[in-house]
Amino acid sequence: MNLLEVANLESAYGPVKAVRGVSLAVPEGRIATVLGPNGAGKTTLLKTLSGIIDPKRGSVRFGEQDITGRDPSHIVRMGLVQVPEGREVFPLLSVRDNLLMGAYTRTDRDGVARDLEVVQGYFPILRERATQDAGLLSGGQQQMLAIARALMAAPKMILLDEPSLGLSPKLTQEIFDIVLRINRERGTTLLIVEQNAHLALGVADLGFILENGRIVVEGACAVLRERADIQEFYLGLQ
Ligand code: ATP
Repeated sequence: MNLLEVANLESAYGPVKAVRGVSLAVPEGRIATVLGPNGAGKTTLLKTLSGIIDPKRGSVRFGEQDITGRDPSHIVRMGLVQVPEGREVFPLLSVRDNLLMGAYTRTDRDGVARDLEVVQGYFPILRERATQDAGLLSGGQQQMLAIARALMAAPKMILLDEPSLGLSPKLTQEIFDIVLRINRERGTTLLIVEQNAHLALGVADLGFILENGRIVVEGACAVLRERADIQEFYLGLQ
């Protein structure tokens, strides 16, 4: 079953059309990746899915519901949660309070307490730094906090925007390993926008390549990895 279904989605900033008729589907429990050059519309696509930007046309279905144009807090409550590009942690709040902010739509206090333990199990550094201001964390630790904060919303699906941005290859690999674990252990569906095509195509099940607001190539990552044109343009191989 598809958890996310996007049909003919269009988004614009005034006259600037950023997403020009995107259709894609992500089956429940799978990892999908959206690749593409700078300015292709990847971030705008994610922001439209999470309700931050209102689409001009098209529809977004999540599970059984049409969530097109719904507000972000409704979409979070439905179980679709975005980890924004650049992390956007609250720098003057403690690490623990940042995590609790992720659970702001929840009323099940026992479940929240349980999930706090679970996410600190995935990212032990966040337990060690629980009382520190989040602004004092390194870039990699802030990325971990941003993912952990999304998990605190008990999501069915996470939209992950450029998790590797500004991180070393080693830290990026570490984060992708944990993302894979979250997918395997919790069944969380993921849509990952990523500059590091090599890594993303290695981790994801299905890939979409966005250029100029349109999907120009899509398919199983195992197939995309073997395609000569993709190797040349995205994997730097020839
Ligand atoms: P990047 O990898 O650089 O983040 P992207 O694929 O995520 O790129 P978007 O950030 O979605 O691309 O941008 C798509 C298009 O929309 C670009 O032409 C960009 O200049 C434009 N754009 C993005 N944000 C705004 C904005 N706030 N106002 C006007 N135009 C914007």
